[in-house]
Parts: sequence; C-alpha cells; structure tokens
Amino acid sequence: MKLVDAHCHLEPRDFPDVDAVLARAAAAGVVQAVVIGQFHGPGDWGVALEVARTRPSLVATLGIHPHEAARARPEDLAELAQLAARPEVVAVGETGLDYYYDRSPRPAQARIFGAQAALAKSLGKPLVVHVRDAHEDCAVLLAAENASQGVIHCFTGDVAAARRYLDLGFHLSLSGVVTYKKTEALAEAVRFAPLERLLVETDSPYLAPVPYRGKKNEPAYVVETARRVAELKGLPLETLAEATTANAARLFGFVLP
Ligand SMILES: [Zn+2]
Repeated sequence: MKLVDAHCHLEPRDFPDVDAVLARAAAAGVVQAVVIGQFHGPGDWGVALEVARTRPSLVATLGIHPHEAARARPEDLAELAQLAARPEVVAVGETGLDYYYDRSPRPAQARIFGAQAALAKSLGKPLVVHVRDAHEDCAVLLAAENASQGVIHCFTGDVAAARRYLDLGFHLSLSGVVTYKKTEALAEAVRFAPLERLLVETDSPYLAPVPYRGKKNEPAYVVETARRVAELKGLPLETLAEATTANAARLFGFVLP
C-alpha cells in the first residue's frame, strides 16, 4: 500500500530528527509527503525547502499563512513570487482565511490570500488553502481569482461547503479530524465528495488521528485517517490509498516511486 501525506509541517522545533520521522512514515507505507513552507518573518521561510531538497520522499510548498498576513510586506510577497517559481516548489501556500483565531485583521488576510491565489495561477501551480470559519468568504475569493487548481487542506466543512470547492475544481484534503467523534457533517461531506478529489494528510504536528489523538502527529499516522475515510466511502483501505495517492501525485505533479 502506498500513501501520500498531502500536508505536514516538519519544523525542527517539533522534529529535530526528520530522517527518523521519515523512516517511520516509510514503514507505514507513506511514499511521499508534502511539507509546508511558511513565512516566519522577513527573509525567513522556514526549513521546508531545505529539508525536502535532499530527501526524495518530500516535496515542498511555500506560502504566507493567514496568521502572518498582517506582518507580510510587499517585499515579502515579491520574495515569495521569486521562490515559488523554483521548480522544486510544488504549490503556493498554505494561505487562506482564519476567522476562528483572527490573528491578522480580515482585510489583511483577504489581501494576502488573493495575492497568493493570483501567484499560483500565474505560475500554473496548485494553491494550498487553509480555511477556518470562513467558507463563504473563501469560496467567493477563490471564484473572484478564477482559482481552479488546488486543495482545501484539513477540510472540516459540510456538504454545502464541499460542493462549492468541488465546483471550483478544488480537491479536499482530510485530516485526523475525520476520525474524531461528533463530526457527522464532515462524514457526510466525505461520502458526498468524489473519490478522485480526495486527499489525506496529517497536518503534523497537529491534529493526530485516533488512536494517537493528543500526541504529536507525524506523517506515519496518515494511515489512520485513510482508514476512516475508506470506511466512510465503503471501500477497502488499499483502494482508498491508491486513489488518494494518485490524486496527490496528479495535483502536485510529482512522480511516485
Ligand atoms: Zn498546515
């Protein structure tokens, strides 16, 4: 069985030994993981690009998270445009809208999100979208930017939200949240969405799936999320793994080993 972790964070403060993490992932069937590169401040884009460069089972993205939107200056966006054009950067993001934490004012979040949607489009690369309590504004913004290629990461919405993103052409990536109790609306959305638009992810180090809930999440655990999604779709785990892996490879443009 081959799995792809479509969204993980592997910053050294959480994972001082990335190779040990990747060895456990490989043992669990994870053939590729998409590591998210994020803006931390002027000139600081984290370690994603560097970590992925020497490891064939990793590909990297680069973007400005909505939490950091207010801190990003025009120069930072210009630097992102340059870095994201590199062939080893497979997607722009994560970017988006977070109205749950509201760590940046909403107009700043929208501005930085819109700029990255336009950048992804101009580069012909997918957009990795983070959205929390903001499905309406998110879908409207994506439509206004003519965005049609990308993924709603850690999708936790209902059928109505899923339908809007799917209609735009987006994929939905499911995290450990789908293994938690009291997520019936999300389960309904998973049953509704076509298999060829689904991905699975850990969002490590956060949101560990059951039975690891509360622990530090890591790419190896994506199998637990895949297991639950397979159950909801009424499919064998192998079939779900094969489909989501092919979907991720197609979306992010990498070749599977
Ligand atoms: Zn993330």
